This record gives sequence, C-alpha cells and structure tokens, in this order.
Amino acid sequence: MSQRKPFIAGNWKMNLTLRESVDLVRAIAEQTRGLESVEVLVAPPYTSLPRVKEAIGKDGILLAAQNMHWEEGGAYTGEVAPPMLVEAGCTHVILGHSERRSLFGETDDMIDRKAESAYKHGLTPIICIGETLEEREQDRTAEVIEGQLRGSLKHFRDKKDLPKTTLLAYEPVWAIGTGRTATPEQAQEVHRQIRQWLTAQFESATANAVRILYGGSVKPDNVKELMAMPDVDGALVGGASLKASSFVPIVRFES
Ligand code: PEP
Repeated sequence: MSQRKPFIAGNWKMNLTLRESVDLVRAIAEQTRGLESVEVLVAPPYTSLPRVKEAIGKDGILLAAQNMHWEEGGAYTGEVAPPMLVEAGCTHVILGHSERRSLFGETDDMIDRKAESAYKHGLTPIICIGETLEEREQDRTAEVIEGQLRGSLKHFRDKKDLPKTTLLAYEPVWAIGTGRTATPEQAQEVHRQIRQWLTAQFESATANAVRILYGGSVKPDNVKELMAMPDVDGALVGGASLKASSFVPIVRFES
C-alpha cells in the first residue's frame, strides 16, 4: 500500500431519490464515524447535493458533484457552474468520467478547462481517464492514457504546476459496471505509468503526492488486493457505492 492517505469515493451517477440519498449518506456516516485513516467522498446527483451536505453535518464525508461547466455562469442551459457547487457544499468535482466522454461528447480539452476552473473556484477535481477494451486489445493502453493525461492537464503542464491535492482516477472503460475488474497487477501497471508521467511533467513532490484512484467494478471482495498495490491510492466506486452494505466494507478495506 502507498504512503498516501487512501481515498474512497462513491459515484452515485443518476441514481437515488432525495430521501434515499439522505438515508444512504447517514448510514455511511454512522458506520464510518471515527475512521481517520481513509478519506471518504460521495458524489450524488446535483439535486441531492444540499440535502446530502446537511445530512453529513459534522461528519467528515466529502461531497462532490459528478460534473460541472467551466464558466462561472451565463447562457448555458442545463449546465451547472462551479460557484453553484461550492454553495451546495461541494469540495470536489468528478471530471471526464468515461460516461461523460462517450455519451456526452466530452473531450480532453473540455476536461482541461473544467479542471482549471475547478481550482479557480476552490474545488478539487477528480479527473478520470481510461482506455476502452478495443484500445487495450490493440495494445494501445499506454498511448491512450498518456494522451488523456496530456490533454486533460494541459493548463497545468503549461504552468509546470499541478496542485498536490489533485485526484486522478484510472478507470478502464471495459471494467466500469461490467463486473470485470482489472487485476491488481493490471491496475498497478497503469498507475505506475501515470505516476512516471507525473514525475516527468511536475516536481517529484507533486508526483508523489497526487493520489491515483482505481475505478471499475470495485467490490468489497476485491478492494483489499487492489489497495495493496503501491500506486493504487484509493477507489472510485460506482454500483457498489449505492448501498451502505457494500460501500462501507470497501471504505474499511483493511478491517
Ligand atoms: C464508475 O462509474 O466510476 C465505476 C467505477 O462504476 P462501477 O464501480 O459500477 O464499475
């Protein structure tokens, strides 16, 4: 396991009513209270954010949105601006999830603008990258990952400065929601490549501090072996984050 503080995030996607969201976060808070060794985050749908924040109260669970626009406001029907997320209680925002990329046409350039804007407004981005099955089978994983990193972190590369708090999530598209997890070795190989890339672009203190989460069918029964890898610093969990009975054991991967 790495020296970095583990970070376990639940991406609720387009699921759960207000009531269900509040009940779930209360259950997670109750069952993880006092757990200091792991940072825990939930990312509910926009409409649930303020109520989930209220339900978190003094508990330490972090709150993220699943997306945002890069502009501060204006004529962008259907979009949500960074200051609105801050007002709703978010500290983080997930950017460039593969569903945003494949279903809603998000590009690396858009993710780059969003990441820069997130920091400008006091939000920490969780930037998602990952190859498709076809790309993996064509032996193009390393090239795809590097391209996504270069494109999605362009502003930071230009300035040669990336905040150490940045979270990256390696999510092989073929493992998301499929029940097919990358093996710990497959995850580690890509995480190591990401860390090497960070070392080449930024100060080594930054490359060593940035946490790289793995996402793709993480479950209570596979989290421990994934977290045992030296460059796997946490997990971004979809399906298994929708119930406290599966999310809490993931958060408590060591116990
Ligand atoms: C995700 O959507 O980020 C994800 C990893 O989903 P799942 O855990 O369901 O594969």
